[in-house]
Amino acid sequence: MRELFISISCPPDFSHSLLVACENCFPQIWEDFYGERLVAWEASLNLEEKRSDVMRRFCYRCGALEAEQGPLINGLCQRCFAEENRLLHVPQELEIIICGRCGAYMVEGKWHRVSGGDLVTEAAKMVALSSIRLAHSTLGEMKLLRPEDVPKVALSVRVRPDDGIIDVRATGKIHELQTEPQIEEAHMTFKIKRVTCDACALKNVHHYEAIVQVRGKFKRSDIVKTLERIAAEAGNQERMAFISKVEEHKNGLDFYVNPMRLARRMAGVLKSKFDAEVKESRKLVGQKRDGRKKYKFTISVRIGGGS
Ligand SMILES: [Zn+2]
Ligand SMILES: [Zn+2]
Repeated sequence: MRELFISISCPPDFSHSLLVACENCFPQIWEDFYGERLVAWEASLNLEEKRSDVMRRFCYRCGALEAEQGPLINGLCQRCFAEENRLLHVPQELEIIICGRCGAYMVEGKWHRVSGGDLVTEAAKMVALSSIRLAHSTLGEMKLLRPEDVPKVALSVRVRPDDGIIDVRATGKIHELQTEPQIEEAHMTFKIKRVTCDACALKNVHHYEAIVQVRGKFKRSDIVKTLERIAAEAGNQERMAFISKVEEHKNGLDFYVNPMRLARRMAGVLKSKFDAEVKESRKLVGQKRDGRKKYKFTISVRIGGGS
């Protein structure tokens, strides 16, 4: 016996509209399932005629025949499936969080540095991409997935920074039985919220793990330029790497540096570049939350043997 998916029109107060039955038992199920109510409802219809009709597969929503309109998907014709299932899901409004000091922006709880180009455009695009979900049907289950997890869907995100609008366009299939991709557009509005990021907040209170004390005979601007370049490079890799303060003294310069490994890298460069003498010391200042001892380090760098 051949098993069929049969789509029938139900009486208005029935919630079922789809049955599975073999060709032989279908008439029996029809009667068992709907019983007298159906008979009453269908009293004016020719039941025999109806039976032969529904043996052909058709869309339960609009009645389109599968033979004419292409494969049914979950009982729906191609057009009704596309109308009932939206591919593109986006929030109406986004909040773009940007650090007013350094221009870092936040995506899903993490701060990112702008990679070049317009900050608002890049931040809005990245936040938009993280918020988009695409419908995808696998193994009979409909899921909303992140764009990177859905194969063969073309997605374009265009930011209009002056209007505060993001245009999104997606082209692709939700279900593998779809004969044509769905083409959908959506628009999101966005607002900018300026805050101070974690790194800038620490810099602001002159947070440091180590002081690099540079003493001796040298051109101050050379040293400042060298160490600021090293800090900037480190900051590109690690947001919490920075010089929070530079103090000028009669006999040299003090750099307040976070974290310790950046201070060591700086001292290492001064040692090789200026043949400096480097000494490290530490002072216990308390305990970290995990119970480990907390130190402030001082790295003394002496250049050229001067005072
Ligand atoms: Zn239909
Ligand atoms: Zn910042």
